[in-house]
Amino acid sequence: MKQSKAGLNTICTHTGEVEDKQFKGAVSPLYMSSSYAFEGVDVKRYPRYFNTPNQEALCKKVAALEHTEAGLIFGSGMAAVSTSLMAFLHAGDHIVLQKTLYGGTYNLIEEEFAKFGIEYSLTDGLKPEDFEAKIKKNTKVIYIETPSNPLLTITDLKAVALLAKKHNLVSMIDNTFASPVNQNPIDFGIDVVIHSATKYMGGHSDICAGAVASSAKNMDKIFQLAKNFGGSLSDYTVWLLERSMKTMGIRVKAQNENAQKMAEYLHQNKNVEKVYYPGLQSHPDHELAKSQMKGFGGMLSFELKNDIDAMDFQNALQLIKPSMSLAGVESTVLSPTLTSHSLLSAEEREKQGIKDGLIRFSVGIEEVEDLIVDIEQALAKVK
Ligand SMILES: *Cc1c(COP(=O)(O)O)cnc(C)c1O
Repeated sequence: MKQSKAGLNTICTHTGEVEDKQFKGAVSPLYMSSSYAFEGVDVKRYPRYFNTPNQEALCKKVAALEHTEAGLIFGSGMAAVSTSLMAFLHAGDHIVLQKTLYGGTYNLIEEEFAKFGIEYSLTDGLKPEDFEAKIKKNTKVIYIETPSNPLLTITDLKAVALLAKKHNLVSMIDNTFASPVNQNPIDFGIDVVIHSATKYMGGHSDICAGAVASSAKNMDKIFQLAKNFGGSLSDYTVWLLERSMKTMGIRVKAQNENAQKMAEYLHQNKNVEKVYYPGLQSHPDHELAKSQMKGFGGMLSFELKNDIDAMDFQNALQLIKPSMSLAGVESTVLSPTLTSHSLLSAEEREKQGIKDGLIRFSVGIEEVEDLIVDIEQALAKVK
């Protein structure tokens, strides 16, 4: 598919949609068939080949949103991550990954790569020179995540893309936290863009899915593995995800706006020690974020003052719920120490700057005033 010229919300609402020729309905009809007529060796339609009508519709939407030639929808974010990595890595190869990785991706490389004979290095920091320092003769891929989880640090997209070109590597990004609304890494020269569509693309905490977008050539390489690994998404969920993505533009923009207001409120709250949000002037990477993001996203983290117990505070919240996941229309909080980063040693967490009292906040689309009321009553209760 050609690069779409339509604007964000037009792509979200329309791009790729299947025309209902029979009844002229407003939305893509859902085709649940797992068996299609044989029409010749070149036309093999089958869900695990990622080419049912609904799959193809959504792939076009993802590609248009990320300014790429092609896209694929997977059964989970990790299916998208693992298939993309394995498409470009062979026994004897090496990959450089940024040190602040999503927990599931870290587990994948830590638990699975050795048996495939793939080596990896994690960077010491997030500056371009930290990535270059880890590149070896057999390095094939450079992998980043920005903004990072949970401290919302920013990696320089353009610098990493240039580094990859210089050393002839494939650059990949997990773009989940930003969503395609806030960041299009392809425009900065990154090769492969990966999403956990479970998060902002789905946006309603009721879908588990993944997405990848890249050039037609790269996507063909990823597809060759994808059909063998079998990580396709059921057509019903594909259809539901298409429905969800129609409102992604307006949802994420509302979340950006709420998160900015929430970050500013927390920043001036005397019970709060520190706020991590790229939209704050005080964020060390604020200028870099401004240069490569269209919005600063709906995720932020904060530390309460030492005399306040973070668990007591979370339990005292009424509207905002503790949750393992993120990016829904509802606001949720999570303690990285007790969940996503619980497998790390206390020293390793300390080294990464993750305090025990850190709270990750996925800001929803509620009225921000109501969220603030909830935080104030919770603070009053635990103080
Ligand atoms: C959730 C998440 C994933 C994994 O996605 P699943 O859909 O749970 O498989 C990968 N990267 C990031 C940044 C995530 O938040």
